[in-house]
Amino acid sequence: MAFVLELQTTSDKNYLQNYITGILSLNDINFSFERGEDKLLVLFDDKNPNLQNIVENIANSLPASIFLKNSKSYFLDKEIDSKSEILNDTPISIGLCPSCQKELFDVSSRRYYYPFISCSSCGGNYAFLNRYPYKRENTSFRFIVPCDECKDEMNRVGKNQHHQINSCHKCGVSVRFETKNSQRYANDAGSFRTMFEVSAKAINDNKRVLIKTTMGYRVFYKPQEINHDSILMMINATKITDNLSLITEEFNALLSIERPILDVTLKNDELKTLKGSNTIYAKYPDDGFSILLCTELQKLGYDYIAYEDVDSKCESDVVIDYDLDINQQEDMRYFLNKDVSFVASGERVSFPSENFTKVSVLSVSDNLIGLPTDKNSMIFDKMEHFDSVHVDKANVLSTISEKFHSIQKPYLIEEASFLSVVAEHNLFNQKCVGAYFDEEPSFLYYDGKNVIRIVPPRDFETNSLIENISNLRDGSDRLVENLKNQKPKIYEKLQQLQDRDDVKLFEAVAIILGLDDESMRGVTKEAMKFVGKGGIQIDTHVKDNRFDHTAFLASIISYQLAGVSEAILSYSIFESFGDYFSELLDELKDKTKTTNVILCGTHFANQSLFSRMQRNLKLTPPYMNKNYPIGKESGVIGGVYL
Ligand SMILES: [Zn+2]
Ligand SMILES: [Zn+2]
Repeated sequence: MAFVLELQTTSDKNYLQNYITGILSLNDINFSFERGEDKLLVLFDDKNPNLQNIVENIANSLPASIFLKNSKSYFLDKEIDSKSEILNDTPISIGLCPSCQKELFDVSSRRYYYPFISCSSCGGNYAFLNRYPYKRENTSFRFIVPCDECKDEMNRVGKNQHHQINSCHKCGVSVRFETKNSQRYANDAGSFRTMFEVSAKAINDNKRVLIKTTMGYRVFYKPQEINHDSILMMINATKITDNLSLITEEFNALLSIERPILDVTLKNDELKTLKGSNTIYAKYPDDGFSILLCTELQKLGYDYIAYEDVDSKCESDVVIDYDLDINQQEDMRYFLNKDVSFVASGERVSFPSENFTKVSVLSVSDNLIGLPTDKNSMIFDKMEHFDSVHVDKANVLSTISEKFHSIQKPYLIEEASFLSVVAEHNLFNQKCVGAYFDEEPSFLYYDGKNVIRIVPPRDFETNSLIENISNLRDGSDRLVENLKNQKPKIYEKLQQLQDRDDVKLFEAVAIILGLDDESMRGVTKEAMKFVGKGGIQIDTHVKDNRFDHTAFLASIISYQLAGVSEAILSYSIFESFGDYFSELLDELKDKTKTTNVILCGTHFANQSLFSRMQRNLKLTPPYMNKNYPIGKESGVIGGVYL
């Protein structure tokens, strides 16, 4: 018989499985794994006398994961007579596992204060991948010869088995510490510790510290210097809820092994004033460099610090760098409300990905491609990591002009994102309707075979913006005249928009509202200041089967001139958009006789909008991406099926 621990997880990745393997392989027990739809089964040989202790040990030490929703256990009639091994074919970048975290602060370990610490189931491994197959000689560690102890670890069972970039102080990477007039190296526990100590003090002295972390370049600075792009790194786990107002799910997600960035509500009044909003992007330290810097900052009394994801050229006073090439991925932003959660944007954790059944297609999007593996699956990652491949055809994002195949078909990002949801939920051969929202709203229909845009987005053209508003209807010219007289600054900014051809709709909205952060992000933050119930109706009507920008903006201007607060207006914009989306989706559902609704596009990651949509679509909860971002990054997945 087998004792089964069933982990309900949507993730296609191996890190939880490898973590469990790392622990179980050190015990005298046979075990194996099975994967089902949205679940990972751990099967134990139930004849083992220590079964109960071993299972308890796993349950207690398993790191929290945003993809792990629940677990249960039962018995199954099956013989388990061997031990599973670690699977390490596609390196990804996540936070440190509990075992590595412990090793990092164990004075007697070979990796005390070693910032490159990671294992087969954790850490910033993807950063060092040069090409597939994932072997040390295909990584930036190819010239770093592992010491005997590291080599031994890679060849015996445990968390570092098959860990391609295994290293320690003795064999590892030395790191440069540069200030304006000095340069030093860290290459052992003592010198690394000093380096992080000095860096923390530099931040305390109002300096900016640029670090090449295993998650990419980050610049750290005092929270007093916070700006629109800053992310708040929460240093002290016990003080998180003193500063942020979180529901339990948000707290758990923040500390999960994936360590996503969350858009959360502030509790700390000083931060609210500094930020000029009630919400902030927050993250818990993930990689060795960030964790060690934060540890030293905590000793100086910091409970949180500000940072930004940047590149090597970022202005700073202190630089921590080393001579290894790294891949930089956009960080994962995670959206969560009480009942629903999904990845809002980013490449980290979601990619690279090995998933789905093999198809002889090359899918090409902005930064990522998808192609068949030799194992009956598809793999999705950056193009430079692959050699050429023979496939029957290529589907390529329409904005890319390069030729990849003699049979090549262009695709639109909204069609591909929409199909990625069809693929993740296996809705092939079923009718689906849905909406895509990334600056511009559009509506799509899938008849079970092909996807078409029913209400295409209208390009936001601003060259005659003011004139269009003036000519909208009787009296609109007075609206523009009043704006010019009462809000001359806003009027002037709108005039300037007319000379540009890359204006986003929500940039114009933010300008009309007079917001500092002239983007969707600014309007979203402003909406979160609204505490009342129910807003006002903003004009979101459709003209010639397309969203009417002019009527929408004119409506906002008239409320703005009538003295309605920016917070109510911002909230109402999303509420009205929510109604607009659900009304059209209801119509499409009726017309096409389907109940399958799909939502995609990163702008659905918005509390005000999403709550409204959820309320309106209560009877037919929408399908959304499970493992991939709802935004444009998922296009490469859907691109396979066009
Ligand atoms: Zn680890
Ligand atoms: Zn070593």
